Amino acid sequence: MNLNTSTLTAHELIEKLDGREITLEEVLSGLRERINKIDPQVKAYVRRNEPQAAVNPAAAGPLKGIPVTVKDNICTEGLNTECCSHILEGFRPPYDATVIRKLKSAGATILGLKANMDEFAFGSSTENSYFGPTHNPWRLDCVPGGSSGGSAAAVAADEAVFALGSDTGGSIRQPAAFCGVVGMKPTYGRVSRYGLIAFASSLDQIGPITKDVEDCSLLLGVISGHDPLDSTSVDAPVPDYGKSLDRDIKGLKIAIPKEYFVEGMEAQVKEALEEAVSELKKLGATVKEISLPHTKYAVPVYYIVATAEASSNLARFDGVQYGLRIKSENLIEMYKKTRGEGFGQEAKRRVILGTFALSHGYYEAYYLNALKVRTLIKRDFDGAFKEFDCIVTPTSPSAAFKIGEKVEDPLKMYLSDIYTISANLAGIPAISVPCGFTGDNLPVGLQILARPFDEGTLLKAAFAYEQATVWHKMKPKV
Ligand code: GLN
Repeated sequence: MNLNTSTLTAHELIEKLDGREITLEEVLSGLRERINKIDPQVKAYVRRNEPQAAVNPAAAGPLKGIPVTVKDNICTEGLNTECCSHILEGFRPPYDATVIRKLKSAGATILGLKANMDEFAFGSSTENSYFGPTHNPWRLDCVPGGSSGGSAAAVAADEAVFALGSDTGGSIRQPAAFCGVVGMKPTYGRVSRYGLIAFASSLDQIGPITKDVEDCSLLLGVISGHDPLDSTSVDAPVPDYGKSLDRDIKGLKIAIPKEYFVEGMEAQVKEALEEAVSELKKLGATVKEISLPHTKYAVPVYYIVATAEASSNLARFDGVQYGLRIKSENLIEMYKKTRGEGFGQEAKRRVILGTFALSHGYYEAYYLNALKVRTLIKRDFDGAFKEFDCIVTPTSPSAAFKIGEKVEDPLKMYLSDIYTISANLAGIPAISVPCGFTGDNLPVGLQILARPFDEGTLLKAAFAYEQATVWHKMKPKV
């Protein structure tokens, strides 16, 4: 068969496998060839494991043996899972994360290679990886976004059918936008975090990065649901997300928050958003401007809460139980040397910031106040969702930037998440779908947010928009 299977989506592959037009072996070897050809330039994968994991014996399940690409911070039994950090070098989890277990029982093959990421998911560009940066397939001198940059670049370059990322402040949506693919952060509690190596436990969610909205609904349906192993996972029924994809959004009430039109938003991003909004109106949605007055505090609140939680989560990496150990004369020296050598610069910056925010005397001034403002940010959304079904914004104020452009300026880097982090602070679901290109041929993303556990409405709006536009069909030339 002469079909180039690596360009196909998961739902297209399933259809062709069902119709016996292709075989699973063709899918797997097509993908392997594509990775071998493209990845030396894109570097979406970290080469710590054999390229191909054994084909799932349950390949008869709904996912038919199709391979899924997994971010390096999600535990995969027997396969290196290192969060792209030196400190976890050689760590092979003895168990699967719940999402992996669910994928395997739905018949997916777990790809042996893991997707590159910023160390411990700290970053917006994948430049903080111990293994070096991933390159944006649309322009190799640009970043793919982060921290799930490997997953997003792999999907965009057809080096992955679909992928899992994790999103603490935008790490699924922002790289999806930078690479021109679909990325969703589900509601906090929708997807189990068991086996996701924690960055900030009150913000982290695992979610899909895919070539189109239909694949996003497919993958979300498989990984969602209550898990007794994660006390923050919610015991609520998982709808059949495929049913949401009906293209009819007549009467959908959409809001645009005026605070999102910030200084520093690129003109072409603004234009793409305006065009997307007129498309949504043409499809029958009503659009009104609203105010989310606490938006301006989201970045500082996030960087207090996220670093505080990260500093405490990273305390477990001390050379005793996992990965790297630098031998020393005594225990304290061993801790110091292992952590000193094992963590990269950004991880150290966050441990120091977070420890400071939680320290005696500063806790009330920083951490407690941040929690209070977090509640106000959530209330802004609660108010808006009384009247509106969705909120739309750009996913990031700019398109992908050059590799090296922001590494020396962490504050500038932190601002690239200005539109995504509020959803994590409020726990609500959000999706990014491709909505245009800049003059430099770099993709732009449209973000849609909805009420907690209303992923169905997100998928519906995203699908209607996607089907009415051509953006998701565009492919980078790598
Ligand atoms: N870029 C943000 C940060 O560096 C978000 C990262 C994420 O979502 N994991 O914290």
